[in-house]
Amino acid sequence: MNLQGAPEGSTLFAWFWDLAQEAISRPELLALVYPEQVDQFECSQCAQCCQQPWNIELDADYYDHWYSTFDNHPSGRFKNPFLPATEGTRAVLNKQPGSNRCLFLDQDNLCFIHKEYGAEAKPEICQRYPHEASLHGNLYSPSLKSSCKTAARMLEETGELVLRMVKRPDQWEHPPVEPLQPWIGLLLEGIWQHSISPARCLAGSVFSLKQISANPLFLTELDLLSQLYHGQVQAWRQDTGPKAPRWSECLELFAVLDPFRAPALDRFLAKLKEGNRLPFAVSESERQHLSAVLRNYLTRRLLNLNPLQAKGLTLFQFAFLQAFSLLAVQVQALCLAWYSERRLTPEILVAALNQVETAVLQNPAWFDRHRFNQLDSATCLDAITVATSLDLCLPEI
Ligand code: SF4
Repeated sequence: MNLQGAPEGSTLFAWFWDLAQEAISRPELLALVYPEQVDQFECSQCAQCCQQPWNIELDADYYDHWYSTFDNHPSGRFKNPFLPATEGTRAVLNKQPGSNRCLFLDQDNLCFIHKEYGAEAKPEICQRYPHEASLHGNLYSPSLKSSCKTAARMLEETGELVLRMVKRPDQWEHPPVEPLQPWIGLLLEGIWQHSISPARCLAGSVFSLKQISANPLFLTELDLLSQLYHGQVQAWRQDTGPKAPRWSECLELFAVLDPFRAPALDRFLAKLKEGNRLPFAVSESERQHLSAVLRNYLTRRLLNLNPLQAKGLTLFQFAFLQAFSLLAVQVQALCLAWYSERRLTPEILVAALNQVETAVLQNPAWFDRHRFNQLDSATCLDAITVATSLDLCLPEI
């Protein structure tokens, strides 16, 4: 790529800067950006994903092609293989009686469909899982769902960010150019190149958010972009000292947006409020581990601009959503740790992350209930500052 003119010392920002220009001059190219673990994933055949409470959705073609084959299977084991589904989907896979095990999951924990008819015969969701991907403009971001234990374990490792250019498949559409790419690159540079903690990175991004909202040309004019870069890096550098979490405001924000109400969580929140501090010590190695998990998590969230496009959020609302989800993951992890061995173990971090993803980010009802897309900029900015004041990646003061 041509990185001429990018600010000296910048890496990811320079790459995304160039990407924004390539989107116009070379629309036949796609930029792939993803944590290297995506390429290294290998299914451990734990079958955990085949026995979850979620539904595996099927389209009409799959239903028509396979229903009678399974229903009439000589073993008689797969009667009523698919159940009617809700709007938008033809059906869902049936489960074994009284359990969440998929009807096709054999005693040896292997998929009957895969064994008998091959991997391509499985429902599309099963073939893809835990891989997912988002496409915005010329930016394609494959990732791994953290609900898969094996993938989640891999995403706890620090790893590298892979940046590649490939030719766009001919049959793929050319979505509109994504003007926010340089800003995404700027934030990614903060967490990957300048080693700023995910919460601090978002807290400091208030600087660039304000600049862009005052003058959207900051995203398109090279001189202004360069100015934005230097101003943002400066803002991060000035924000280095330790800070105490604004506990009562954090907890109030968490309670107002109530991602998952439960009596145990309420008791824990009351305890936090009373003590106004961490309920147990977090070790240095746990902090480092948490930093790697949250860095991969925020990277995935920043590269996925669906909330901006599908839910019509503004940039401020989008940034607040990311800040709130970091807060929610940390509070929930503390709560789970408190009720177990009071250690932020990898399992606890992953469980907290999955709960937030399910209850908040993949839950349209949550967005509707809180009218997220009606929050004004000032409210979002205040809320970002409060939410990011809890930063378990940094030592406690
Ligand atoms: S169809 Fe196979 S891969 Fe899909 S959930 Fe059932 S057992 Fe698992």
